[in-house]
Amino acid sequence: MARPAVATAERRKTRQIKVGSVAVGGDAPISVQSMTVTKTADVDGTLAQVYALAAAGADIVRCTCNEQAAAEGLARIVPRSPVPIVADIHFHHEMALAALEAGVHGLRLNPGNLRKPEEIKQIAAEARDRGVPIRIGVNAGSLHPELYKRFGGATPEALVESARMELAYFDEVDFHDVKISVKASNVPLMIAAYRLASETFDHPLHLGVTEAGPPPAGLLKATAGIATLLSEGIGDTIRYSLTADPVEEARAGRQLLEALGLRERKGLDLIACPSCGRAEIDVIGVARAAQAALENRQLPIQVAVMGCVVNGPGEAREADLGIAAGRKRGHLFIKGQIVRVVPEDEMVEALVEEAERLVAEGIEARLAAADSGAAAEAEADRQALFAEQGDDVNSSEVRVDIIRRTIAHERVVSTPNSGGSAPSGSSED
Ligand code: SF4
Repeated sequence: MARPAVATAERRKTRQIKVGSVAVGGDAPISVQSMTVTKTADVDGTLAQVYALAAAGADIVRCTCNEQAAAEGLARIVPRSPVPIVADIHFHHEMALAALEAGVHGLRLNPGNLRKPEEIKQIAAEARDRGVPIRIGVNAGSLHPELYKRFGGATPEALVESARMELAYFDEVDFHDVKISVKASNVPLMIAAYRLASETFDHPLHLGVTEAGPPPAGLLKATAGIATLLSEGIGDTIRYSLTADPVEEARAGRQLLEALGLRERKGLDLIACPSCGRAEIDVIGVARAAQAALENRQLPIQVAVMGCVVNGPGEAREADLGIAAGRKRGHLFIKGQIVRVVPEDEMVEALVEEAERLVAEGIEARLAAADSGAAAEAEADRQALFAEQGDDVNSSEVRVDIIRRTIAHERVVSTPNSGGSAPSGSSED
């Protein structure tokens, strides 16, 4: 039930690193990251969130390591985590060393906040010896003040220069296990910075729009930045930074990659028609009920909810499974072929049952198990609706006819001496 990838540009070649068991860069699948919002010292609370993020699609999870209790928490979290854990480090180099001691699979350093070269090199040397990668996490909002001054602000060049300077420190201690991010909350700035970073470095790039804010605007901003770059072949791992439950971040990241055909579908893709005059049901209500019933079942299929049987099965013939309404009945279809007709109030239940069977048994088997009379019953409903509604149920042709007659009438009444004179309003000045 895989879908073809969209026509994205060829992915830019980057080196590959390993964050625990997850490869990042090179030809590795683009990975999804998120960050816990619990106190890292709260081991059980943080682990519960890590598990929730992993279930929602996160491949790697970051936890803050801002105090000794957090580092100690990491020592207990890392061995029990289902996904690699990265420690987020800002001001205190000893927290990076403590996180390495805790066994984390990666570090994120902010060059704007951790500035002493000797401390940076000490961390890199320790990471090198332990085989742990580091993300150079440049952020426009916390750019090194000297760079801000030198470049006249947080420009793309300033962000990339910050990463380059950090890389130079790493080079001094022969540490190269690096990925880079150059995030900004301003989407055009973020896009320009990553484009420049992609031309400048061959290290894997971690994409994100920082401080994107709450959904839906935050989702749109993050998607605008991340999807634009992915479509250009830029980016090896992504994070949505939303002011929301981080599960939403992980889910959004995963859904974006699936929508672009860059990751195999892991969960449900529910599509629904926009509804129109032909709709025989409350499409929004049924789509919501279907989503609620199906979304936690981890069924990697596309399911369609369509408002009418006249056009629904045809319009959604690419969906793995769908349901269309007509004459108080639901028509279940697989790849556009009707397999069952059920009473309208059993539509969602029947959809869920068929979805589970489809995943368990496969499309061919479920098509073979179709009710023998279903296609004929559905066609009878369809023809009956055609007969009742005609083929212009949205009254489009009636409206077009009225528009034509209105304009023709207006032209005649506004040009009493018509016979070739210009219509009113087309003056010669
Ligand atoms: S024609 Fe049917 S399937 Fe298409 S939008 Fe209208 S109700 Fe939905």
